[in-house]
Order: sequence, then structure tokens, then C-alpha cells
Amino acid sequence: MCALPLKHAGHSVTIIERDGGDRESHQAGIGMGLDVYRLLAQHDRIRRPFSSRNTQVQLVKHDGSVQVMAYGRGGITTWDAFYYRLRSLFDGHVSSYYPTAPQSSDKDGHVSYESGQEVIDIARDDEDDSQMVLTVRNRDTQAVSKIRADLVIAADGASSSIRARYLGAHDRRSVGYVTWRGTVPESKVSEATLQTLKRSVSLHRTLDQKQHCVIYIMPGPDGSLEPGERLINCAWYTNESPESLDEILTDRIDGHRHRNTVPAGRIRTEIWDARVKAARDKGMLAAPFLEVVEKIERPFLQVITETDPPPHAAFEDGKVLLVGEALCQLRPHTGFSSAHAAFHALCVHEYVRGRMTLGEIDDSVTRFARLHWWQSLWYGEMYQGRKISALVAACHFWWHATVDRFRAWRTGRKPLLRVGAAAQADESVVAAVAI
Ligand SMILES: Cc1cc2nc3c(=O)[nH]c(=O)nc-3n(C[C@H](O)[C@H](O)[C@H](O)COP(=O)(O)OP(=O)(O)OC[C@H]3O[C@@H](n4cnc5c(N)ncnc54)[C@H](O)[C@@H]3O)c2cc1C
Repeated sequence: MCALPLKHAGHSVTIIERDGGDRESHQAGIGMGLDVYRLLAQHDRIRRPFSSRNTQVQLVKHDGSVQVMAYGRGGITTWDAFYYRLRSLFDGHVSSYYPTAPQSSDKDGHVSYESGQEVIDIARDDEDDSQMVLTVRNRDTQAVSKIRADLVIAADGASSSIRARYLGAHDRRSVGYVTWRGTVPESKVSEATLQTLKRSVSLHRTLDQKQHCVIYIMPGPDGSLEPGERLINCAWYTNESPESLDEILTDRIDGHRHRNTVPAGRIRTEIWDARVKAARDKGMLAAPFLEVVEKIERPFLQVITETDPPPHAAFEDGKVLLVGEALCQLRPHTGFSSAHAAFHALCVHEYVRGRMTLGEIDDSVTRFARLHWWQSLWYGEMYQGRKISALVAACHFWWHATVDRFRAWRTGRKPLLRVGAAAQADESVVAAVAI
């Protein structure tokens, strides 16, 4: 996301990626918040829509009745559809999602996407103090090379080695619960279930209030938005003890213990079957949720992890910036990770074009992270944790939100908080994007 505005502003941009160029997704949805729309409104050159629309967040009760929790237009796409769109826009990468590259502009900078290259060190250039030097290892040949850059944007995820290098922090931790995820083609569920779930993000809490499920509809294969081809995505959250984690994270095929994710096809069949049976026998899930869970053929599992919001995002006099989950990993309950990363991309653009100072970008992205991190913690504890922890997190969140409001009033800038009126204010931006 950061690379696009820089390319469009004429900068020379290299993405260094440890894994391959064609990525296998987890077949899960990505919520597109306001900042994703803002970024796309400015930098998307593809006009084809690529997200399913929803108009509300609703609570589905045990008897199947529905209570609307919030109205608001939103879009959900898939990780693959988003990744391949960004790749198409960045370097014209050809995929089944985007077989042709969008129109380029004479003003675009030179770009390259270097896959299979791992950053193993970062330092100031001895000969030219204004530059950074990255040491990069080719994962195939093990050859090590150096790359010089005026600016390093560290988007290396929640286990970021660059974050660890500057903050000394290896603080990614499990929060005590997991999500069982999977998809079902829309065409495979009953009409009654489809009617309940359509155009909504649907939430359901089990009767004992210890588990919850989130379901929404997202694009299907190759990003298809055709009704019937789209996928129903289900995320079912359960608390797990360390012993049970050892069991459920053990690979069905080779028996090794995964760290945070058991990919589709690797969950032990007897474990998944037992979970579904318990849900059915104990009447834990409302009918539409049980139907979707029962029809998931290839579930996968993610341990929910988080990292603390850091004190700083900028290092080496502003030549190194942490963004996305390298800066801070939020819990998934607010569906905000992509919007979080998009906000960083917009700020990086403002910083590079001189409209934001180093102090301003550092302050904005760290406050933005802290605010939404507390919100994600509040929601997570409310659904899966203890009421008292949820209350404490809510108090922190509202304190930071109040400070944010006050600062916005004092400086005349927009608040950072992305809920309620602040999120609605830019509806025109949302309307301008081909979602
Ligand atoms: C392959 C993949 C599939 C995913 N699928 C989904 C999904 O379906 N649904 C969903 O909600 N979320 C998914 N996620 C997670 C989600 O995209 C991100 O967690 C979130 O959007 C934050 O993005 P990020 O760019 O900050 O971090 P990440 O998406 O974690 O990206 C970090 C990238 O940095 C690379 N990297 C790490 N260390 C180095 C290094 N030393 N040198 C070079 N490269 C390095 C990683 O390979 C990775 O590609 C997926 C992530 C990945 C990597």
C-alpha cells in the first residue's frame, strides 16, 4: 500500500519480499475501512469493483432473530483479491484476478518487486550518512547483497525483525483464544440462511457467552462478485488453554506443531469434527451459523496474537518507518488491520512530499495505533475475555478517544478515531471508489 503513492509520485520503489511472488491466501476476508477507500480513491487505476458490500453489522440471537448493531456502508474483499490488485497497480503483475496491467503514467517512478529476498540487516551507510543499507539474502541461492535506500519502509509484519532491531521488542503474544476459519460457497447454503446473512456482517455469541462467531459474504474465486459464486466466510472464536493449543496446532499430515496458523487441509479431522459435533449436540450456535460451520470443508486455524503499540514509528532521523503490523498488531475484532496499514501509507506519502514533519508522522501513526489497539482489546475482551478486562480496556480507549477529540478541536485537524461521525464524514470518498 505504501509503495503505490510513492510510485505515482515518481519515486523509485523496490519491494523486498521474503516469500514468493504468487501468494497463497488464507481464504479470508479483509475489511476495507475508510483509509483503504481514501488510498484507493487517490491511487487505484482499475475501475472493476472487487469487494462485497454490506450495509449493517447485526447480532443474530440464538432463536434466529436479528438485532441491528450499526448501520453503515462497508466493503469486504479477500486477501488475494486485494494483494493481486495492489500488485497489478504496482508492477503490472499478471494474475488470474488481473490478467492485464492497468495504464501507467509517464510520471510513475521505476518499480521492482524482489521476491524470495530476505532482509537480514539494516544499518546507516558508512560512506553516505543520508542513506540506509539493507543486507538481503536470496533464499534460493543464499547469496547476500546490499541495497541502498533514502527511505526504508518496514512492512515486515507482526514478527518484524526491524521492529525488534529498533525497539528491542519481540512482544508478539497469543491472547488466549483462536479463530477457526473457513468458507462455504453461497450456493451451498439454504435460502433461509442466505437471507439472514446477506449484506451484513453477522455476529453471534454462544449461549454460554464464551465463544462467538462472525460471518460475512466476500468475493469468490478470482474475485468473483457473482451471486452464488461468492463465499460465506466464517470466523469462530474459542478460548484455548496452552495444552489444548498444543493439540489443535499439531499438523494432521506431518505432526509438527504450527506456531500461529494451521493452514487449510492441515487441521486434524477428528479435532474439527469433535468441535462441530459439540456445537450441534449442545445447541451452541444459532441455526444459520451452525449450517455454515457444518458445511466448511477446509477449515484453518489462527491463533489470535497482538503486539503493543510502540512509542515510536520513525527511526534513523526518519529514514526508517515502521508500518502495518510491523508497527502494531491489533486484534481482529474491529476488522481494522488493512485500514490501519492504509492510514500509514497515506501518512508516508504526506511525509515524503513534505506535508508532514517527522514529528507529526511519528506522533500520528503511534497515536492512531494506540487508540485503535485499545479498541480492539476492548472488543476482544468483551467477546472472549473477562468483563473487568473489557471495562479497563474500554476506559483506556475512551480516554485516548477524548484526548484525540480535544487535540483535533485545538489544532483544527480531523480526529484520528475512525468510528461514528469521523468515519462517516468522508462518505463521498467511499462513493468515489470502485468497491
Ligand atoms: C500470505 C499471507 C496471506 C494472508 N491472508 C490473509 C487473509 O486471507 N485474511 C486476512 O485477514 N489476513 C491475511 N493475512 C494477514 C494480513 O494480510 C496482514 O496481517 C495485515 O494486513 C497486515 O499486513 P502487513 O503488510 O503489515 O503484514 P503482513 O501481511 O504480515 O506482511 C508482511 C510481509 O513481510 C514479509 N517479511 C517478513 N519478514 C521479512 C524479511 N525479513 N525480509 C523480507 N520480507 C519479510 C512477509 O513474508 C510478509 O509478506 C495474510 C498474510 C500473508 C503474509
